[in-house]
Amino acid sequence: MKHRDLLPGRQFLGRVEKGEDMLEAFTGFARRQQIRLATITGIGALQKARISMYDQEKKSYNVMEINEETELTALLGNLSLKDGEIFCHLHATLTDADGKAWGGHVCDGCIVFALEFEIRELMGEDFHRMPDEDTGLALWEM
Ligand code: ZN
Repeated sequence: MKHRDLLPGRQFLGRVEKGEDMLEAFTGFARRQQIRLATITGIGALQKARISMYDQEKKSYNVMEINEETELTALLGNLSLKDGEIFCHLHATLTDADGKAWGGHVCDGCIVFALEFEIRELMGEDFHRMPDEDTGLALWEM
């Protein structure tokens, strides 16, 4: 386990508007506000979704399209730097009318119906995502 000690920065509470792409909305907000490191949580509902799961053997993402409305029962993620730019990484748990769940890595194409979020900025040394050979992922260099 590797970590860094950080201090709290700004805190944001707000909502994403109906029709916005969830990933674009958070990335755009973070870049405008210059939030370089943060955690993100949220709840709401989506009009449709695109989420994926990382195939650990093939080292590629399998994308799943959900072309129906879902409840966004949990949105978790973070902001850090990748290729020198502010980068947003989100995972979501989505449910249908029967309460059955999908979950995965958030891709573009998740269209918001309503979404309430909290962003907690963290102050300290930048976190840079770097290619990790073992996993094929862009992981935090520590
Ligand atoms: Zn992910």
